[in-house]
Amino acid sequence: MNKLCILFLACFCTMASAQDCYWQQGVEYVIDVDFDTEKHQYEIDQKMIFHNNSPDTLKELFFHAFLNAFQPYSDMDIRSHTIADPDRRVGKRIRALTSSEIGFHEIHWIKSENKKLDFNVEGTIVHVFLDQVILPHSSKNLQLQYKSQIPIQIRRNGRNNSEGIDYSMAQWYLKLCNYDKEGWHADPYIGREFYGIWGNYKVNIKMDPRYCVAATGVQSNSGDVNCESKSSKPGKAKEWIFEAKNVHDFVWAADPDYTRDVYSLADGRTLQFYYQAKEKYADQWKKLPAIMDTALRFMEQHFGPYTYPTYSFIQGGDGGMEYPMATLITGNRSLHSLVGVSIHEWMHSWYQMMLATNESKYAWMDEGFTSYAEAITMNYLAQKNLIDGLKYDEFPFQESVIQWVNFCTNIGDEPLSVHADHFKSNRAYGLAAYTKGSLTILELEYILGKESVSKGLLNYYYAWRYKHPDANDFFRVMEKTSNVELDWFRDYWVYTTDQVDYSLGEPRDTLKTLAVLDLKRIGTFPMPIQLRVIDNKDKVYQYFIPLDLMRNISQDFSKEIKVLKAWNWVNPDYQVLLPFSKDQIKEISIDPDVMTIDVDRENNIWKP
Ligand SMILES: [Zn+2]
Repeated sequence: MNKLCILFLACFCTMASAQDCYWQQGVEYVIDVDFDTEKHQYEIDQKMIFHNNSPDTLKELFFHAFLNAFQPYSDMDIRSHTIADPDRRVGKRIRALTSSEIGFHEIHWIKSENKKLDFNVEGTIVHVFLDQVILPHSSKNLQLQYKSQIPIQIRRNGRNNSEGIDYSMAQWYLKLCNYDKEGWHADPYIGREFYGIWGNYKVNIKMDPRYCVAATGVQSNSGDVNCESKSSKPGKAKEWIFEAKNVHDFVWAADPDYTRDVYSLADGRTLQFYYQAKEKYADQWKKLPAIMDTALRFMEQHFGPYTYPTYSFIQGGDGGMEYPMATLITGNRSLHSLVGVSIHEWMHSWYQMMLATNESKYAWMDEGFTSYAEAITMNYLAQKNLIDGLKYDEFPFQESVIQWVNFCTNIGDEPLSVHADHFKSNRAYGLAAYTKGSLTILELEYILGKESVSKGLLNYYYAWRYKHPDANDFFRVMEKTSNVELDWFRDYWVYTTDQVDYSLGEPRDTLKTLAVLDLKRIGTFPMPIQLRVIDNKDKVYQYFIPLDLMRNISQDFSKEIKVLKAWNWVNPDYQVLLPFSKDQIKEISIDPDVMTIDVDRENNIWKP
């Protein structure tokens, strides 16, 4: 397919049919913030250029107005009252907020090319009616003025979090919803996942001079506006200016008591750490930079380069939450926990900040892949002995496999394809997105081998960096990398709750030196089989039984593993002829390393 790409990957197709053409929207924000720390409110003047790179004519626009979620009887509040297992951080707290504690956006006006536009505020979505349509491949100037109030800290953003950080400024501005090949994604905010348009931000924050401000992007002030020169008395507001290029969100935080440590990497990129030094946990924060430097080398080698000039670890929020070029994490933690959350949130710079999936639709592609990467990075740090009590684990995902199998067999799971907001319980969402999501990579390792998957993850990064990959895009890269067909796996894994269950019987002697082994597929989810035989002399023999639907076998299985004939997916039975007599065999097992979500492991093993 021939494509001609312009700003923000607007792509025209010169040869292929329109359906084959990838495109994505672009946006540029210049946001002036005048912050009143007495009232916890701020006035915003927001200028934007929206690039409609789609083939469609747009008659309306939608903005996220996230802070409106923090009001009694908002969708987020009602959801928290009606879901079986509310997030404890939210619970019934929103219902109890007073008018000075809620969050809101009060819109003065929205203009396009200097003409005021009509709009409706529909909870956390602002529905804007354009007076003139936006044609395909054209741009529109927009301007918004509004007043916002940051609520007391409930979830992610807010003021005065439990660790005393004054302002955690996430989801704080009117953010244009994304419009992609599926149309608008104007999802009401109920406290879960995000999706945004690739763009550039310039944010000017006028604030009480006692505050230190941390943010997405690179600070571009001239003069002495920095955390080191903050004033001890109130006075004329200082203006902080941050610019971020090629990101899809912007976060900031402010506190008078932040200590800021800047750590320079060998290539000139910087890591910044903002925390409240008076706590005893400051000692852990002092150890963090060198550990993150070591971790980054491993992360870049396995998942691709981190391409931004800086990254900030900011104490704030209510746990850990990822944003472009920065994270908000709670900071009163042991070193082990602080490193774990820092690695997890930073890994989100790959899985969703550079590989910008629609998290609402594919939470497993960001939370899951991030959790996988976190686990193997932590394992690497364990090998380096950098953290007391952190032990190397030869099979770091076995616990997740067991946890998932317990959940799906006892409670019942929902397919990964359920929209993140619409899972019936927080638990079902959490286990699908994080646990089953991370196992996606493990299952692929089982099907394709570790090396192929490792290559595939890098290919995925280079093919989809700064774009919006979906589930199929990911599996296509894995197919192209391995030359193995994976559509069957994608369909069972993502769109169903079918279960994997294979069993083996007792080997039967036929001739003196041969045993016949009967295998059975009991579950409806077909998989290839890794089979291990240990003989009387403790010699290990590995076999791989491909599934017919794979069509090819990954190169990883060409060496130590004997590849047997393919198992047709329709057939529940399969026979293996082993070059041993029964009495020479000490043990036979299916999936010996506990990689698949086989729901009954007792029938996976035979011993005399
Ligand atoms: Zn995460």
